[in-house]
Amino acid sequence: KKSGKNKIQFFEPRLHEQVMERNLLTLELRRASARLNEFQVYFQPKVDGNEFKIIGVEALVRWFHPELGMISPGKFVPIAESTGVITTIGDWVFEESCRITRNLQRQGLISEDWKLAVNVSLRQLKEGHFIRNLSRVLKETGFKPENLEIEITESMFMEDTKYAVHILQEIHNLGVTIAVDDFGTGYSSLNYLSRLPIDVLKIDRSFVMDIGKDSCEDTIVRAIISLAHSLDLKVVAEGVEKKEHIEFLKRNQCDAFQGYYFSKPLNLVDLTELLTLKYPF
Ligand code: C2E
Ligand code: CA
Ligand code: CA
Ligand code: CA
Repeated sequence: KKSGKNKIQFFEPRLHEQVMERNLLTLELRRASARLNEFQVYFQPKVDGNEFKIIGVEALVRWFHPELGMISPGKFVPIAESTGVITTIGDWVFEESCRITRNLQRQGLISEDWKLAVNVSLRQLKEGHFIRNLSRVLKETGFKPENLEIEITESMFMEDTKYAVHILQEIHNLGVTIAVDDFGTGYSSLNYLSRLPIDVLKIDRSFVMDIGKDSCEDTIVRAIISLAHSLDLKVVAEGVEKKEHIEFLKRNQCDAFQGYYFSKPLNLVDLTELLTLKYPF
């Protein structure tokens, strides 16, 4: 796209296949987002750093394509973002996950101070009448704004800082908390941390993965935790897979954990089952 060299690469079969796949997924996404019946919301528990009690879940969308099978969000979310259908899908994920977790609360399976975290992309915030939709869903489901957290990425406030500050402030004013996802992987955003109404930093999985390998990741993780705490923010580590990750993170006062060590993202049936256990972890 950018140079002559890339033009030549376009005709390499692998890249050609990638373009074909992208075109197919673009068309299929448009079809599927019109009815939304192929999507499902999965939930991954977050636990507190001391007792491993479930303090909330992150909603993660899944696409079950009738012929192609399960397509991971890592594959289709970027396409949905660039074509704009993420707004439709994202609004649905938000409403569906609020409805589901509100029901779990009504059944007494989750406490009053539980959090539902939903991923929101910049495009969704910009195009989807986000605040209006948010207020409607909260009202219709009886969901308290204090029980809701939205996860945004650093790139969002790099792309459009003024708008980001404005809309995040508005969301925060409703009582919804805001988490910065994949922290540390974007551009240096340190100067924005004090200007944006942020409550939580989520340490990216790529740092957590290398904990204990004698690498500089240990130092980075420690630095993120102390940076967050000095700004009065909570820290969640994502992608926690091993006992040694937990030992290190606990030693360094990380507030909450999320990862396969505790649980993979679960469908409603499996989540409900987990929540009925007295000591799930
Ligand atoms: P994310 O927000 O960083 O979500 C965490 C991803 O890490 C999830 O992948 C989760 O399944 C995976 N994960 C969690 N714990 C572990 C672990 O211990 N080990 C490993 N290897 N992986 C772990 P998933 O569900 O495939 O989602 C990928 C990305 O797609 C998400 O990354 C998020 O950026 C995006 N996404 C998912 N659902 C939505 C949505 O409803 N809206 C938007 N805008 N984006 C979404
Ligand atoms: Ca996330
Ligand atoms: Ca993340
Ligand atoms: Ca990530």
